Amino acid sequence: MSATATSNRLQEAVLEAAAYLYVWALKDIPQDLRDALADAAERETSVAGQRVLSTILKNVQVAEDESNLVCQDTGIAVYTCRVGEHFPLHPARIYEALRDGTARATLEHPLRSNAVHTITRENTGPNIGHRLPIVHWEFVPDWGGLDVKCVPKGSGSENMSFLKMCIPADGVKGIKQFVLESIVGAGGKPCPPGIVGVGIGGSADYAMYLAKEAIARPVGTRNPDPEVGKLEEELFTLLNETGIGPMGLGGDVTVLQCHVEHADTHMTLNPVAVNYQCWAARRASAHVAADGTIEFDREA
Ligand code: SF4
Repeated sequence: MSATATSNRLQEAVLEAAAYLYVWALKDIPQDLRDALADAAERETSVAGQRVLSTILKNVQVAEDESNLVCQDTGIAVYTCRVGEHFPLHPARIYEALRDGTARATLEHPLRSNAVHTITRENTGPNIGHRLPIVHWEFVPDWGGLDVKCVPKGSGSENMSFLKMCIPADGVKGIKQFVLESIVGAGGKPCPPGIVGVGIGGSADYAMYLAKEAIARPVGTRNPDPEVGKLEEELFTLLNETGIGPMGLGGDVTVLQCHVEHADTHMTLNPVAVNYQCWAARRASAHVAADGTIEFDREA
C-alpha cells in the first residue's frame, strides 16, 4: 500500500474512533465513576443529598437502558492524544480526523451543537469551529501507537474554573486556601458532587492545563508523588467538610474526589489552577495501532 493510502486509511480510523468516543463518553460513564457515585450515596446522610444522589444514579441507569445521554449538555469535545514517535500519521492529519469525527458524531447522532464564535455568539457548526475541538498533545518516544481520550466538558462545570498566582511564601497553605475558596464560591453551580482538578506549578497556562488533566484521571487514582498524593487526600477531606453537598443543597458529599497534577516551576512562582468536573465526569479512550486497528477502553 502506498504511503498516501496508508495515511488516508489511518486518518479514517482516527476519525471513526473520535466519532465513536464522543457519543460513547456522553452515554456510558466509566465504572470507577459509577462506583464513586454509589459510594457517595451510601455516605450521604442529608435527606436532600440522598435524593439528589439517588436521582443521579437512576439517571445513569436510564441513560444506559435507553442508550441515551447522561446529560443534555454535550459540552465541548476535549481530546488528549498520546502520539507514538513511529505512528505513521502526522499530528496535522490526526487533528483533522478528530475535528471531522466530532462533526460526524454531532450530525449523525444527532447531538446538540454548542460551538459559537466567542464575540458574535453565532453557531460555528457541528461542535467544531476555530480551534475547536480542543486537543492536547503528548509525544511518546520508541512507540508506534496512538492513544486518544475524549473528555466532553459541560459549561456548568467549566465555568467554575479558577486561577491564582500565589506567591511562594503562601506555600501549601495558600494552595489549600485557594482551592477551598474556589469550591465554596462555586457552591451548587458546577453540579456537585464532582471531581476537583487542581494544577500546581509550571506557568499560568500550564497550571490550568494540569488541572484539566487532573479531572480526566480515573476517579480516586492518586498522584505517584507522595507529597502531591498527600495534598490530594487533605483537599478531599477539607472539601467534603464544607457542607455544600450534592447540587449545593447541603450534605456530606461535596466532591467525589480531588486530583492534583503538578509541574516544577520558577523559584518565584506558585500558580494554582482549579478546574471542576461535574458528577457527569464523562471520558472514553481508544488505542489506535499503526495498522489502523482500534481498541476502545472506557476505563482509561
Ligand atoms: S455541569 Fe455537568 S451535569 Fe451539570 S449540566 Fe453541565 S454537563 Fe450536565
